Amino acid sequence: MDVKSMNPKLIVHGGAWNIPENECAAHLEGLQKAVDHVYPLLRSGLTALDAVEKAVNMLELDPTFDAGRGAFLNAVGEIELDAMIMDGSNLDYGAVAGVQNYLHPVSIARKVMERTEHCFLIGNGAQRFADRMEFVQVKPEELLTEREREYYERIKHDPGFTTRRPFDRSGCDTVGAVALDQYGNLAAATSTGGTPRKLPGRVGDSPIIGAGAYADNLLGAASATGWGESILKVLLSKTTCDMLRTANAMDAAERAIELLGERVKGLGGVIVISNNGDYGFAHNTPQMAFAYMADDQIEVNISAYS
Ligand code: ASP
Repeated sequence: MDVKSMNPKLIVHGGAWNIPENECAAHLEGLQKAVDHVYPLLRSGLTALDAVEKAVNMLELDPTFDAGRGAFLNAVGEIELDAMIMDGSNLDYGAVAGVQNYLHPVSIARKVMERTEHCFLIGNGAQRFADRMEFVQVKPEELLTEREREYYERIKHDPGFTTRRPFDRSGCDTVGAVALDQYGNLAAATSTGGTPRKLPGRVGDSPIIGAGAYADNLLGAASATGWGESILKVLLSKTTCDMLRTANAMDAAERAIELLGERVKGLGGVIVISNNGDYGFAHNTPQMAFAYMADDQIEVNISAYS
């Protein structure tokens, strides 16, 4: 195949679990907007790496989602953001965890990948690096929504609350994007505020290579969402990509989610694009919100687990 003429592909997710009815429209709209804005750029030659960063940036800005603005609060009422990005052409990877004052952790992750000798920076070090890269610091209030403040007040002293099933209220609204560009390159990115009332310093799957996302031009690229501690144990995104050796994209996503459920009683969802441009998606949470560019129109969906 002439890789220069590949039809670009883009799929994004806005988390998985129970998305309350009054938040469904905002989820669908946010995801649709991201594909609507970024897909035409991909068609005009934008790289997969730029595409996933841009799509995730839009979702980080949207207060609907648990990423950037709109993130959950941790056990002491603070926001701690995690994100990663990966380039399938050379397996380059960048990540940050526990950053507090930035709207776009995925862009800091990309700078870690491109401007340091390292792959992953955390906490203060990540923030110092972000400042050096001239990311604008924002006040915590600019990331915090009234919805999350109220939710935190409700759960902060609830003895029955557990981060093992943190998602009963609503969507676990981490965001992610996977793209294939016209040059045949794949990329994936994921950004999150983590889980509600998590211990300070807790890092879930989202910024961890192979867990929150993975991209390899030889196989495909994937981004995951859901209960991070379980996703970590089966490296859900890498597992999904590995399944592409013997399965098409939809089957790969389904088999990886089956493994998550069977092996660690995990709960989550995954989106994937194979290196020949097929889409796959699956989840075993009650719902998952996602959108992708089909042949000539955007498919946007909150799918229900059956
Ligand atoms: N996987 C994320 C985490 O555990 C949460 C999510 O997907 O919404 O941090």
